[in-house]
Amino acid sequence: MIKVNDNFTLLSPSYLFSDIAKKVSDYLTMHPESEIIRMGIGDVTRPICPAAVKALHDAAEEEACGETFHGYGPEQGYGFLREAIARHDYRERGIEIDPDEIFVSDGAKSDTGNIGDILSPDCKVAVTDPVYPVYVDTNVMAGRAGTCLNDGRWSRLEYLSCTAENDFCPPLPKEKPDVIYLCFPNNPTGTSLKRDQLARWVDYALANNCLILFDSAYEAYVSDPDVPRSIYEIEGARRCAIEFRSFSKTAGFTGLRCGYTVVPRELKGSDSNGGEVGLHNLWLRRQSTKFNGASYVIQRAAAALYTEQGRSQVRETIAYYMENARMLLEGLTAAGFTVFGGKDSPYIWVKNPEGMTSWEFFDALLSRCNVVGTPGCGFGPSGEGYLRLTAFSTHEATAAAIGRLARFAGN
Ligand code: PLP
Repeated sequence: MIKVNDNFTLLSPSYLFSDIAKKVSDYLTMHPESEIIRMGIGDVTRPICPAAVKALHDAAEEEACGETFHGYGPEQGYGFLREAIARHDYRERGIEIDPDEIFVSDGAKSDTGNIGDILSPDCKVAVTDPVYPVYVDTNVMAGRAGTCLNDGRWSRLEYLSCTAENDFCPPLPKEKPDVIYLCFPNNPTGTSLKRDQLARWVDYALANNCLILFDSAYEAYVSDPDVPRSIYEIEGARRCAIEFRSFSKTAGFTGLRCGYTVVPRELKGSDSNGGEVGLHNLWLRRQSTKFNGASYVIQRAAAALYTEQGRSQVRETIAYYMENARMLLEGLTAAGFTVFGGKDSPYIWVKNPEGMTSWEFFDALLSRCNVVGTPGCGFGPSGEGYLRLTAFSTHEATAAAIGRLARFAGN
């Protein structure tokens, strides 16, 4: 028999969104006439913007012609895209990031999941709770998480509980970790950190020699000038943070697949002999060995998002989703629900009605309103007591869902 990686056997065999899909499909089998409104899975619904679609067509034509055909590209990403990212996402906002510090990839899930390859299996990891499950599960796979306890927590991870009581702002760790995952604007709570709140984390990481893995997959949704879109807006972050970004939620690339990771050259770690090692070089080595680059056609589409038309079309789509978020915040508050997030993020975090668990609230919304959310407990123990709704829908479906939830609350 082949010996397997035992760590994988520690993971729960089922995946939150498969459990939800099964519940919805069982319900539809029993009630085929139901008109379900899906506000659970965090996938976008609006099409790719015209500027990116044109770039896709043009790039496909290039690939069809011997003179312009592209085969393998640079593992780190094409210069035209890395230049555009460095200029528009950073330099124009007063942040110095060299194109050479940017690694284009097929998305933030791969990068946040793979980054552990360059870190010691002994690293002590802290995660916010609730949390994007990829951070936890990939540390389980790498053997860093210890064993799963009765309450669903892992013995070697430190959980930084984010609830209404602390305004969803993670408390500093009790024990010094080596690695801290932060995701702001946050999935699933939809809340964000102000500049001074994030600065506290950068100061902590610098003082304690920690690495912050900062996931800013939702930065495009930030409108509050006091909420940083990049951790590098904070003084000193280049010495303690890696940043992950994605075109998925920014520009509807969930199916096309493209994102990028910034690893500043100043970031240093130590090997087991105490020797200093640059994380940039390690990630470059990891990517050029295990990744052959995002496709040329997709990188052309991503670059088109930075043109004048692309930027204005992206802004329009985000404004459309954020109008849904506003409708949800106002409509659900007026109906008597307690809701969080949704101001600089497409996620709304709804407090369960008194006495209901997250799954009970989920079941009640499915059966009585035909609305699908995501039970907060699926994101970690501190998610119990909440349910996540997304703004990735149409105005019509959002308004209908609000009406159904208001009738539910009125009963
Ligand atoms: N990071 C967070 C916090 C997310 O919520 C998601 C997707 O839902 C991702 C990363 C994955 O992004 P991508 O589609 O680029 O893999």
